[in-house]
Amino acid sequence: MRKLLPGHGASRGSALGRARVRLPHALDVAEQRIRAREVDEELARLHGAIDAARAEMRELRTRLHGALAREVGEFLDLHALLLDDPELLQGLDDLIRKGRYGADYALRLQRDRLAAVFRDMDDAYLKSRMDDLDHVIGRIHAHLHSRAIDPEGLAGEILVSDTVAPSELAQLQAQGVVAVVTSTGSPLSHSAILARSLHMPLVVGCSAALAKINDGDALIVDGETGEVVVEPSAADLREFRQRLKDLKREQRELGRLRSKPTRTRDGLDIALHANAESREDVAQAHALGAAGIGLYRTEFLFLQRAELPSEEEQFHTYRDVVLGMSGRPVTIRTLDLGADKADRTGLALRGEANPALGLRGVRLSRAHGEVFDTQLRAILRASGYGPVRVLVPMVAIREELLDVRKRLKRLARQLVKEGHEIAAQVQIGAMIEVPSAAICVEHFIDLVDFLSIGTNDLVQYLLAADRNNDALGELYSPLRPALLHLLDGVLRAGRRHCKQVAVCGEIAGDPAMAPILLALGLEHFSLHPSHMLELRRTIRGHDRGALLKAAPALLKARDRSGIERWLAKAGANNET
Ligand code: PEP
Ligand code: MG
Repeated sequence: MRKLLPGHGASRGSALGRARVRLPHALDVAEQRIRAREVDEELARLHGAIDAARAEMRELRTRLHGALAREVGEFLDLHALLLDDPELLQGLDDLIRKGRYGADYALRLQRDRLAAVFRDMDDAYLKSRMDDLDHVIGRIHAHLHSRAIDPEGLAGEILVSDTVAPSELAQLQAQGVVAVVTSTGSPLSHSAILARSLHMPLVVGCSAALAKINDGDALIVDGETGEVVVEPSAADLREFRQRLKDLKREQRELGRLRSKPTRTRDGLDIALHANAESREDVAQAHALGAAGIGLYRTEFLFLQRAELPSEEEQFHTYRDVVLGMSGRPVTIRTLDLGADKADRTGLALRGEANPALGLRGVRLSRAHGEVFDTQLRAILRASGYGPVRVLVPMVAIREELLDVRKRLKRLARQLVKEGHEIAAQVQIGAMIEVPSAAICVEHFIDLVDFLSIGTNDLVQYLLAADRNNDALGELYSPLRPALLHLLDGVLRAGRRHCKQVAVCGEIAGDPAMAPILLALGLEHFSLHPSHMLELRRTIRGHDRGALLKAAPALLKARDRSGIERWLAKAGANNET
């Protein structure tokens, strides 16, 4: 029977496919005891499954290729390490040998024990390790029943699961999975960001998915609206086909804008910079005529690995980005770990009572001076290959920028002494994502060459609304007068001091927000390249002069519906 399940769109695109339901946590095995004489056989069965899971992992490792191979490979290595973890293995053996439990039940007990330990620690880093453990245990369990996912059998399928690990996404796509639906998760998760890079439709937070979707059900997934249709009707199928046709037509039309300028109707050129995390993003940014990289998130080099990347590795990564942009400026953001970006290197503090207000961004870097210096050295070395700008995340007070500037000066001298070729001038910028920095921007603007407004965090700190908390409903929204007034203030300060101001939060890539940003005087947008052509089209349809004139009315809006009414009027004047 047809069902419509709501979720959150996390990576755009529509897909029609057959559901492949995966219940990794569903080790709902009833208590299962064995006799003394069965112990050896049960141990052999368990270790056979563990060996098979290891072999499967090795096989996957050899099949990785492409831009994300290294990153995904690191996840697989970590999973392989877990498979060799003495605590996990010894615990399992003991449960079978001493507890006389069957292998399945032993797996369940061991998983639940470890889960309880992790849960009590209430720590984002350990929670993400729990996901890894679940994946590994799920693999062993599958092999116990010879249910290893048949790689050939996934073509045209839609994975339905509680979570999806970033390590799996590229591999699932290579195996023919056309979309993923998860019952938990947030559009701001690392998996979601990776899915967007891979152009894989993803719906997260579809809470009813596991209860309402059966293996083999036909599904239509819309990664934009977050809707999942189970057993679609003839009308749904017609609509889906129509949507695909419309999408293709739209892609063709947008394709024509590749070589066109991002110019408003009244002739103002707007700069579209790219947010990038991977080499593919950089290549796409280059191909679409991005003005440069406006935000290169370096934490992706540090996430999901046990060791810190060396100066050499960081230098090569940053240099590749600089070379990939052939002379266009590349803005490298220093490490923004902490809060929801939990690492495995042990840098981010565990168990903070209030991690979003804790040791993250530049605070964390300053707390680990050597790690910070290593990163700054790598960035400075990359500046010998093309224009590089350093962007500092989570700036809250002037002292933080003074410290970064001092470090950069000292490290530049050191590098020159060592014989490295670095740029004479590396611009430094501050992320404006903490309200104190937005309100008192005049107090430190003399210390920076440019500013970049991170609205994802600014909205959360301004409204005291966790960006990942569904329970807050619509409270977390950029359509708030307080945000618009802050944006207006920062943009005015930038104009007064002739300093470039960009917006690099998700709203910069949302064509619906473009009239607001243009009205407030924004001329530098930084967004994921996959949104670039659509935004270019929208901007080309607007008259910036008219929007500037309408700005006072926008700033008078007292609530979200007032802003929406203003937007409706502005949208009506768009001539795309
Ligand atoms: C932001 O906060 O808007 C931003 C761009 O940074 P991130 O999403 O990486 O925290
Ligand atoms: Mg941020």
